Amino acid sequence: MQYPPLNYIEPVYRPPSEARSLILQVTNGCSWNRCTFCEMYTDPQKKFRPKPEDELLEEIKNLSERASGIKRIFLADGDAMVLSARRLLTILQAIQQYFPEVSRVSAYCLPRNLNNKSDQELLSLKQAGLTLLYVGAESGDDNVLELVSKGETFDSTMTSLNRLKQAGIKRSVMILNGLGGQQYSRQHAINSARLANATQPEYLATLVVTFYKGQQRFQEGFAGEFKPLEQSDLFQEMEWLLEELDLEKTIFRSDHASNSLVLKGVLGRDKQQLLNQVRAAITDPQGAHLRPEWQRGF
Ligand code: SF4
Repeated sequence: MQYPPLNYIEPVYRPPSEARSLILQVTNGCSWNRCTFCEMYTDPQKKFRPKPEDELLEEIKNLSERASGIKRIFLADGDAMVLSARRLLTILQAIQQYFPEVSRVSAYCLPRNLNNKSDQELLSLKQAGLTLLYVGAESGDDNVLELVSKGETFDSTMTSLNRLKQAGIKRSVMILNGLGGQQYSRQHAINSARLANATQPEYLATLVVTFYKGQQRFQEGFAGEFKPLEQSDLFQEMEWLLEELDLEKTIFRSDHASNSLVLKGVLGRDKQQLLNQVRAAITDPQGAHLRPEWQRGF
C-alpha cells in the first residue's frame, strides 16, 4: 500500500509487524525517554511533544481524501498512550469517521501510561477501535528494570497487562535478551518468563539488546560492570526463558533482525520444538542455520 507523504518528525519507528500500516504520528518522541538501552528518541528534534489536536484531526481528514483502503493504523511515536483517554478517544473516533475500513489501531505502550486511565476508559478505547498495544516489558526482573531505568517493575507491568486483557485489548509483549548482561542473565530469563506466565499475552517477542551508539550510557546504570552476553550466552538465556514459560496460547516470535537464531511458534504447543532448536544451537552453532552477522541489525 502506498501512502501519501506525511509530515513526520524523523526518525519514526514502528514494530516490524506494522510494516504495511499507516503510521500516524500523534506524539513526537517518548515522554519517559530515560531507558538507558534506548536511543530511538535521543536526537534534539525528538524532544517529547504531543501533536496539537486540531493539527492532527486536520491531518486525518486530509489523508482520508488522498488515501483509501487503509486497514491498519499505528499511532506513533514511543508512547502514544501517554495522551489522555479523552484525547485518544477523539483520535480514534476521527479514524472511525474518516477511515471506516480500518480494523486495527495499535500503538506502543508504557505500563505506567495506563495508571491514569480507568477500566471504563480502557474499555471505551477498545470500543473506539484500539485493538493492539505493544508493551516493551523488556524484563520481568526488578533488578534489571531498575539498572536500565525502565521506571517499571514486575508488578506494574503485570497489572497493566492484565488490565488490558480485561478491556479486550490484545497485548504484544517484548523482552530484551541480554539486557541483564552476564550478571543477571538467569534471573532476567526466569522472571521474564514468570511475567509472561502471569499475563498470558497474545504475542510475545524477544529482541537482542544492541548498542548502536556505544555502551557508555548503558554502562553508567551498571556502574561500569555490565558484561554483555556472547552468542552462546544468548542461546543459554533463551533456553532458560523457554524452559520457564508456561503459556496457553501465545504467538512467540524471536525473528527480529537483532536475533541470529530465528524462532517462531505458538506456545505452549511448540515449546518442545523451540527448545530443541535452541539446544541444537548451543551444542552445534555451526549447524544451527544462524542468520549471518551482516544480515543482523535494525
Ligand atoms: S519507554 Fe520505550 S521509547 Fe521510551 S525510552 Fe523507554 S524503551 Fe525508549
